Order: sequence, then C-alpha cells, then structure tokens
Amino acid sequence: MARMTSTPRPLLNRRLAEFGTTIFAEMSALALSTGSINLGQGFPDTDGPEEVREAAVRALRDGRGNQYPPGPGIPELRTAIAAHQQRRYGLAYDPDSEVLVTAGATEAIAAALLGLLEPGDEVVALEPYYDSYAACIAMAGGRRVPVTLRPRDGAFRLDLDELRAAVTDRTRLLLINTPHNPTGTVLTREELTAIAALAVERDLLVVTDEVYEHLVFDDVEHVPLASLPGMRERTVTIGSAGKTFSFTGWKVGWVTAAPGLVAAVRSAKQFLTYVSSGPFQYAVAEALALPESYFTAFREDMRAKRDLLAAGLAEAGFGVFRTAGTYFITTDIRPLGESDGIAFCRALPERAGVVAIPNAVFYDHREAGAPFVRFAFCKRLEVLEEATRRLAKLRAR
Ligand SMILES: *Cc1c(COP(=O)(O)O)cnc(C)c1O
Repeated sequence: MARMTSTPRPLLNRRLAEFGTTIFAEMSALALSTGSINLGQGFPDTDGPEEVREAAVRALRDGRGNQYPPGPGIPELRTAIAAHQQRRYGLAYDPDSEVLVTAGATEAIAAALLGLLEPGDEVVALEPYYDSYAACIAMAGGRRVPVTLRPRDGAFRLDLDELRAAVTDRTRLLLINTPHNPTGTVLTREELTAIAALAVERDLLVVTDEVYEHLVFDDVEHVPLASLPGMRERTVTIGSAGKTFSFTGWKVGWVTAAPGLVAAVRSAKQFLTYVSSGPFQYAVAEALALPESYFTAFREDMRAKRDLLAAGLAEAGFGVFRTAGTYFITTDIRPLGESDGIAFCRALPERAGVVAIPNAVFYDHREAGAPFVRFAFCKRLEVLEEATRRLAKLRAR
C-alpha cells in the first residue's frame, strides 16, 4: 500500500555514499579537454630503470608469474623485501611469516584496515590524508578521527598534544604516513618517538604508509616507525615499488610486520585480489637489489625537479611550503588573492593551462585545507619548465 510513496533505495551503500568519485578523475578529464599540463595526479612521465623493465619482460617470456603466484608473494620478492628492510634500517623480518606482497600499497592499506578493525573502532589519521584512507576506514566499519597537520615555519607539522587528545578508549589504531602526501612533510625522529610512546602507552596498533621512503631530500632522514622502541610488534609497515622505481602501473606493494599482524592482513587480502602482478614481482625482486647509486641518482633527479617547480611557483606568486619528501609541493594561494582551492583548481586549466589538486578534498575539516593546492613535480624537466612559464601568467594578472 505504501508502495507509491516510497523513494527507491540508493544503489550505493551508506558506507561509501559520502565519497563520490575521486578528484583525480575530474581533474584528469579537465587536463585532457583543455590541453593542460597535468600536475595533478602523482605518477612519473618517464618509466623506471631499463634493466628492471627488461627483468619483467624476461619473467613473462620465461613463463615465471604468468599463472597465480603464491598467496603471500613469490619467495624471491619476499626475501628481497626482508633484505631491503635489514640493509637500510636494521629491521629483521622473516620472509615467510613477516612479509606479504600486495596489489600495491592501496591493497595493503585496505587489507590492513579490513583485517584489523572491528566496526566502531576509531582510527586516528593525519589530515590531510591520502585519497583512499577515509574510504577504507569506512569500508572496514571504523570511525576516522583526523589530526590536522598545520603550517608552521614554512612546512606542515604535527601537533603532538592534538594527537594525544585524539586518542580515546575506542581508538584501535594510528594510521600514519611519512613522507607525507600531499604536504611533503617528513616526520622527524622526535615526532615519531612521541607517536611511538603514545602507541605503547595506549596499546595501539600502528599502520604506517611509507611508500615515499626513498624520496627524501637534502639532509632529511626517513625513520621507519617500526624501528623505534616498542614498535616492531605493533606496527604494520607498508611499502611499494611504484613510487621508488617509477612503475606505478605495476601495482607491487608489500607489508612487513610481526606474524600475527601479517596473518590478519593476509586474511583480508586473500579475498580481495588473492594475488596479483605475477611477472612484475620477479622484476621488483631485482629492483630492490639495485646498487645504492640507483637510489641516490633517483633522489637527486627528483630533488632537481622539486627545486625547479618550487622556484617557478614562488615566481608565479604562490606561497610555497618546503617539501622534504614525496612527489608533491603544497602551495598557499592566498598571496594570489585567492582563498578557495577547489574553485581555483577548476579554473586553473582555462586560466593557465595547468592542472593541480585542491588539498581541501583530503580533509574532513575542509576549511582547514581550503587555501592549499598541490602540484606534482615527478615530470620531465621540460614539462615543468613549460608549466612554470604558463603559471607565470597568474602573477601578471
Ligand atoms: C601512491 C600512494 C599509495 C598507493 O601506492 P600503490 O602502490 O600505487 O598502490 C599509497 N599511499 C600513498 C601516500 C601514496 O602516495
């Protein structure tokens, strides 16, 4: 009887309804339709090392990885990941019980949250946050509790008192990201030590997204949270080959953690993709064993790109925050007489032929992120030069 008046139930469920489509789809479409330079999405416009690409071709031709690889990842890759953590950070992980290969860091994040959270658990995460965090917390039935990074002395910093105040009796885990996308902040040893002390004191799990571990500049040091006292047994560390080796399409990521944590992540992961990236796993195993000179040259190349774009943005009249790591520079548009980053980014392709991403979309407190806009510098130098030439128009206005 009530049939006539009932509105149809929405197809998309309540957990995901608030998320819509990602900003990257809208901005990449704008880049195409306006012929703009796309400094929005963070992917390099040149491929990684030739020998790593050839290693993938060889694996594929030799019939390695063309069928389902083992659930936890091929042993060669798990061994290479463990060796990498040992060599760089002195962290010992057993390749069989403490390493899990995933479909990029994206699946690692999803599987960690799906495997570790009960509905209603609170997750404290640094805001602005990476695209997928809020949605994955929601899919796992968790509640996100943002702690906002705020500008201080030319960079975005964590307020440790705010972090402490965000933890309640319902908090299950801290979701950390360093080097941090989109702000370019690298948490200092002091900040990480305070986070670790809090996690131990409140008996929290920590999931730490360290996909930019190799992209730190100048004399900045990346400190893995798992290396701090009391952290190894409670920390799920997430890494990825995409950013480190400039093969973002391969989607080879991983988790390193104590056996119980890895088992929980694997429980979810086995029903998401089960396995992925067969031949690429062999190539990434070789990539992780590249000599130190590769990592140094890669960092140096990206530093030069950062410097070029930062100078161009400052010249164009943006406020430019210091980027200590990642692919990204966050800018302040208020010196240009603007205050709404979303409107600014929608207009920028027409005005200047460049696409950027408004940081506001990475915030729950939209107003806290309103005047900030992110530019990616993982592009060829000539592309960045052309982008800065175009952006110079903004100042002349
Ligand atoms: C790119 C990125 C990811 C996703 O990595 P994939 O390996 O491509 O899935 C995760 N976290 C952050 C912070 C990133 O920037």
